[in-house]
Amino acid sequence: MTPSITQYLSQRRQQPNGEPLCAYLYDLDALAAHARQLREALPANCELFYAAKANPMAPILETLAPVVDGFEAASGGELAWLAERHPEQRLLFGGPGKLESELEQALTLGVECIHVESLTELQRLAALGARLGRRVPLMLRMNIPLDGMPSTRLAMAGKPTPFGLDPEDLPEALALIAEQDRLDLQGFHFHLMSHQLDPRVQLALIQHCLRTVGDWQARFGLDLSVINLGGGIGVDYRQPNRRFDWPGFCQALRQLIDEEPMGKLRLRFECGRFISAYCGYYVMEVLDIKRNHGEWFAIGRGGTHHFRTPAAQDHDHPFHLVRSERPPRLRNENVTLVGQLCTPKDVLARRQPIAELAIGDWLVFRHAGAYAWNISHQRFLMHPAPEQIFLRGGTAFSSPVDEAQ
Ligand SMILES: *Cc1c(COP(=O)(O)O)cnc(C)c1O
Repeated sequence: MTPSITQYLSQRRQQPNGEPLCAYLYDLDALAAHARQLREALPANCELFYAAKANPMAPILETLAPVVDGFEAASGGELAWLAERHPEQRLLFGGPGKLESELEQALTLGVECIHVESLTELQRLAALGARLGRRVPLMLRMNIPLDGMPSTRLAMAGKPTPFGLDPEDLPEALALIAEQDRLDLQGFHFHLMSHQLDPRVQLALIQHCLRTVGDWQARFGLDLSVINLGGGIGVDYRQPNRRFDWPGFCQALRQLIDEEPMGKLRLRFECGRFISAYCGYYVMEVLDIKRNHGEWFAIGRGGTHHFRTPAAQDHDHPFHLVRSERPPRLRNENVTLVGQLCTPKDVLARRQPIAELAIGDWLVFRHAGAYAWNISHQRFLMHPAPEQIFLRGGTAFSSPVDEAQ
């Protein structure tokens, strides 16, 4: 836990008790520092965008806006939210199954680039560009073969998926672009896999993308300015103190850029999880401790309807225990940490060794700033939403859920 989080929790302990605590905490100063480090380590001709779907809450975006090169929207809803709150930012628009109205919205807003997912979408954009009399800045998102390179647990390419164009369709797409002067091909987009924990594999994938684009440029005589290498840098929930070696990765990337014939091509990253995961914490106060058929359970206030990440990723989520002053109800036991839902799937971590535990203690789950609250089935069972507390510059403010998104 960062000092700000620890300090907030100890202050909170001093306050007279209301309802048991159930809250998300976000350390915005830690977020800003982390994002700045990521941005500054990148080689000169690289850009870092934030994929807002990882966590689009207003204070998160406000913190990141001055640090990153821009935001990526994966739906019309995100696009409207980002454009309204950050009209000055560079915006990218991707995602499968875009509505025609969303494509029009993107063109009218003047987004920097639309990531095209299919031939149909390209045709829709050609028609829209002609109707609106607007240039259509675009990238073709490609699903390329990965030639046996190691995959992660979540791959969007190298096998049949709904994402991107099959390279077999590339000649047809390029022919359409060539005959429609409104369509402006800026480059290619690759978001191949998520949960990447190995910098060497990520570099090998990048090299593969660069060479593939090099081949296409030579074969089709293309004049491109950017390659979008997607996001996908992972967070190691199973070994929470280990981090993807971003400085080492950037150093090797610099070398790769020197070695490959890049010309004037820029490289763009659009990371989500790796940027915002570490700043967030989900806190559940222990409501009950019980033994059932030989196994100990701690029931916390909240659950997977607030924090679906461990259930979605099928892991035991890392946590800190913040003890109350009460005498322990158990010592040196393995305890399964669950929430308040009437389903056996409402588990955040199984059989965790715990030295001492009492009702009133706080379970503080780390790495909960990305794909956490916003991927959870929040309405299930009609429990209230958790508090949303943001820490910045030594002060805490809370943001009503609807306003923060
Ligand atoms: C989700 C997504 C991202 C961000 O992925 P992370 O794993 O959070 O970095 C980037 N680009 C596209 C196209 C995505 O769908």
